[in-house]
Amino acid sequence: MAPLGDNTNIAEEVMVAEAEKRPVSTIVIIIAMQTEALPLVAKFQLTEDLDSVFPKGVPWVRYHGLYKDLHINIIWPGKDGVLGVDSVGTISASLVTYASIQALQPDLIINAGTAGGFKAKGASIGDVFLACNVAFHDRRIPIPVFDQYGICAKQTFPTPNLLKEVQLKVGKLSTGDSLDMSPHDEAAIIANDATVKDMEGAAVAYVADLLSVPAIFIKAVTDIVDGDKPTAEEFLQNLVAVTAALDQSVTQIVDFISGKSISEL
Ligand code: SAH
Repeated sequence: MAPLGDNTNIAEEVMVAEAEKRPVSTIVIIIAMQTEALPLVAKFQLTEDLDSVFPKGVPWVRYHGLYKDLHINIIWPGKDGVLGVDSVGTISASLVTYASIQALQPDLIINAGTAGGFKAKGASIGDVFLACNVAFHDRRIPIPVFDQYGICAKQTFPTPNLLKEVQLKVGKLSTGDSLDMSPHDEAAIIANDATVKDMEGAAVAYVADLLSVPAIFIKAVTDIVDGDKPTAEEFLQNLVAVTAALDQSVTQIVDFISGKSISEL
């Protein structure tokens, strides 16, 4: 008799295969910043969930509603309880991804947000990228195998048909918990061959992978990391305009997904 673990795995694989054939029903969109989230909340006519699916007291916000035939959930980690700024970064992103999957059982996760871009790799302000790979650049563990665990490089869920339909650039995404870039980070980002750099993507990917939920990453470039402008200044200057481009792409992607199964993406 096969060990119990094997049977469990087979049953899980059958369930995943079945889910891939029926039309996508529930989407969770993880967005780190309120400025990025609110235009999409309006676009999809979502309402804030007042009877939260999340633990009492956390700042995490869920906006939800039916758009076309899709149950759309935009999850924003909310404002830091003490400092009042958006809860950006990998810790909040991992937590809300985990909690959203547990509570909502989505067919697909979309992590949408802004990112720094490298002009040497072809990025310009306002470009919207679909990440083909994600990795971390600030988890340095120089011990064999732990080094790779730290980097946690992954291919993202492939969406060849989506790419034929929606105008997006494709590039690798590197994630770390800092907006600026230290020389250590820079070396790691180059080693990751990244075109865009953010503070959430690889963390969302880690959790989605752990719980076997397909995930895609849509990142719009607010600042050029290898340019001559200070990142924070350039980021704030471009945030609103670039968010409009991001939201337009996310809408096109959601429109494309409507009526299709995961395996048709
Ligand atoms: N001063 C900003 C801080 C936001 S942090 C504020 O208005 O509060 C930056 C956010 O945008 C993160 O969610 C991150 O994922 C993304 N981002 C944009 N440009 C980035 C860059 N160059 N490096 C890392 N993350 C970036």
